Amino acid sequence: MTASFDFDFFVIGAGSGGVRAARIAAGHGAKVGIAEEHRVGGTCVIRGCVPKKLLVIGAHFAEDLVDAARFGWRIEGRHFDWPTLRNNVLADVSRLERAYQATLDSHAVETFHARAELAGPNRVRVGEREVTARHVLVATGARPQVPADVPGAELGITSNEVFHLEALPERIAIVGGGYIANEFAGIFHELGSRVTQLVRGNRLLRGWEPALADRLLQISLGKHIDIRLDCQPTRVERLAGGQLRVALSAGEPLEVDALLWAIGRIPNADGLGLEALGVTRRNRGEIAVDDGSTTNLPWLHAVGDVTDRMQLTPIAIREGHALADRLFGGRHWTVDYANVPSAVFSHPPLASVGMTEPEARERLGGVRIFTADFRPMKNVLAGRDERALYKLVVDAATDRIVGAHLIGPEAPEILQALAIAVKAGLTKAELDSTVALHPTMAEELVLMR
Ligand code: FAD
Ligand code: NDP
Repeated sequence: MTASFDFDFFVIGAGSGGVRAARIAAGHGAKVGIAEEHRVGGTCVIRGCVPKKLLVIGAHFAEDLVDAARFGWRIEGRHFDWPTLRNNVLADVSRLERAYQATLDSHAVETFHARAELAGPNRVRVGEREVTARHVLVATGARPQVPADVPGAELGITSNEVFHLEALPERIAIVGGGYIANEFAGIFHELGSRVTQLVRGNRLLRGWEPALADRLLQISLGKHIDIRLDCQPTRVERLAGGQLRVALSAGEPLEVDALLWAIGRIPNADGLGLEALGVTRRNRGEIAVDDGSTTNLPWLHAVGDVTDRMQLTPIAIREGHALADRLFGGRHWTVDYANVPSAVFSHPPLASVGMTEPEARERLGGVRIFTADFRPMKNVLAGRDERALYKLVVDAATDRIVGAHLIGPEAPEILQALAIAVKAGLTKAELDSTVALHPTMAEELVLMR
């Protein structure tokens, strides 16, 4: 494209957003370089969505194997082996890492396995080298937060380490009430650990549909996950036997074998040379960008978790794709952040799209609410007292479905399809006119009256 720069496009960070942007830009004919300081694939592939989901699937066998007895299956000598699950998951992560690298290679993207920083306008220091680029993309993601004000906090682990544990902890404390805390509370509980979840607020999953968060709380408490609301660690100490003693803001100290911090993620924007260039940042250090993912400098762009938008893989991917299309493909489009579906892979999982009931009541004139509160037939026969809850939020003026919220088996799978209806602006009457597919759980969605 140009001879005056080493690259048309240089990407810092080979995660969800960076790899997509690099591949699309190269496909448009740009000369592309990418730097990765850890492992190609980024958080989602290496230590996020992928290994997490595999652990969720592995953990759920615990319930399935118990329930199987009611369906006539007798399984002798049930035994769980953590190293087998951990090693198989890590091997699959390595397979994916190779696949991501192969994609970059096949698109002639030059990969630098080194840390990169901005060295000046259109200039990147990568390892020992300095290169120039017409456009530079910062796609460095985020890292787990560990509290600075809790003495001994460093004795805990984060989602970075959790996939590599030598042994399954007999007792684990998990701090947080968001995505990661609820997902790992479910995983460890199913695998047999005694789980205590410490939540600083008075509810789980702040910002989610409250009825779903309450249902998860009730089901989790029923399974003997010890969820303590309005409670957080104040000090962590290592005892002589290697266990951790966790002092709490309320109640007696806990003794556990591991402590997992799941209290949010901080953008990886420090030490990149942004200050020297005068790049605008937000409150938590996030890089500020416009609708097209460009910073206040026209040659510098940012996508994914390092920006101040949504910390989700499909969002980082879309942002990277849109940017590369605009810069090198002559296609101008922007990411639409309305009605983005999202799921928490807890046990049971919950999934949501659009407005919650409180949001809709605040933003719309009138709202109609439809709920289906039922025990899935598998749970009935298994004698499992766990009810699913589906909730639709409808704009009373237009009959449009403006929110859909599900908790129950396979909720994320069902919601992905329902999200199309919400995104398309379908009405409740249109849902009602669809014939039920019987017998399924999803049929409840077209039977709510
Ligand atoms: P990343 O994927 O984090 O990639 C950034 C890359 O940049 C990293 O590889 C990093 O090593 C590299 N890097 C950083 N600084 C430099 C530097 N200076 N030089 C070179 N390289 C650098 N999202 C979902 O949608 N669904 C899920 O189920 C889900 N589960 C998750 C589970 C966990 C445990 C975690 C932690 C996250 C999960 N997420 C999930 C969030 C998702 O992983 C992120 O939103 C997504 O990975 C963000 O992509 P990104 O490209 O912005 O950054
Ligand atoms: P979340 O933002 O989901 O949750 C953070 C939790 O920690 C909240 O309960 C918050 O409480 C609490 N918290 C924040 N600071 C402190 C503190 N200092 N002490 C005690 N508690 C605190 O963050 P996660 O770390 O769970 O996940 C990070 C992001 O990664 C998510 O927001 C999501 O975007 C993404 N992710 C997506 C997944 C998916 O799509 N399935 C799975 C995992 C991660 P409060 O509510 O009071 O602020």
